Amino acid sequence: MPPGKRRRYTLQTARGCPLACEFCAASRLLGPFREKPIDHIRAELAAIKALDPRAVIELADDNTFAGARDHAPLLQALKDAGLPWFTECDHRIADHPTLAADMAEAGCAQVLVGIESPVREYTGMGPKAAGLARMREAVERIQAQGLPVNACFVVGADGETEQSIDALGELLQDWPSAEVQLTLQTPFPGTALRRRLAEQGRLLKDRTWKHHNLFEVTYQPIHLTPGDLLKGFSRLVSTVYAKPMSRRRAQIRRRVLRSPLNVRE
Ligand code: SF4
Repeated sequence: MPPGKRRRYTLQTARGCPLACEFCAASRLLGPFREKPIDHIRAELAAIKALDPRAVIELADDNTFAGARDHAPLLQALKDAGLPWFTECDHRIADHPTLAADMAEAGCAQVLVGIESPVREYTGMGPKAAGLARMREAVERIQAQGLPVNACFVVGADGETEQSIDALGELLQDWPSAEVQLTLQTPFPGTALRRRLAEQGRLLKDRTWKHHNLFEVTYQPIHLTPGDLLKGFSRLVSTVYAKPMSRRRAQIRRRVLRSPLNVRE
């Protein structure tokens, strides 16, 4: 580990997710949805801190605040631990008037939010299903409370074309989040997506488990060849992570962290 870098430790506060997005393996393989008792979480945080007082905590949850539990005891436990942490949530955390600010106050350095596919609304998303305009507004509301968002997009859903991939590149030129994550749609075992693609005869037979890594095409797209989907994705990745767009997101991150609502300052 380079000097000055902090080590990352994972901790689960919940397992699974009450939603069932078609492409999601985590919510199915780790189901049913369960929330860990708060005294267990406190004990695990204390053990990590005893091991490494400079630890960074990754909440290895699928969707930390999607359950019915009161947010306050969990956030208080994280705040009391005094360690920076990050996690994954869905955009509905923006619907709560202070949750994002409370997370930032409790040491949350970044929240990963699944925007998913701009060309297809997956089945199973339940109340998380929303159009891009609402997702964008949610990102803005979360960041206005001092919490940087890493927005995750899935490329390659049914409906994807060369034009829609280029359109995503254009959208991301002025997308508001402090970071962006791009992955290819991947039909992991156990998912409804895999079952559907298998029924449709669209799984590529030579794509074994090692190819299911979020960056390889493992199925036959509808409007593109697998090779053209990969080329379009690679073009998008090259643009989005090139210096100009990366620099812009770094500026957004600095601005979010300077937000007057950010109590960490
Ligand atoms: S909200 Fe996230 S964790 Fe839950 S099922 Fe959908 S993708 Fe999976």
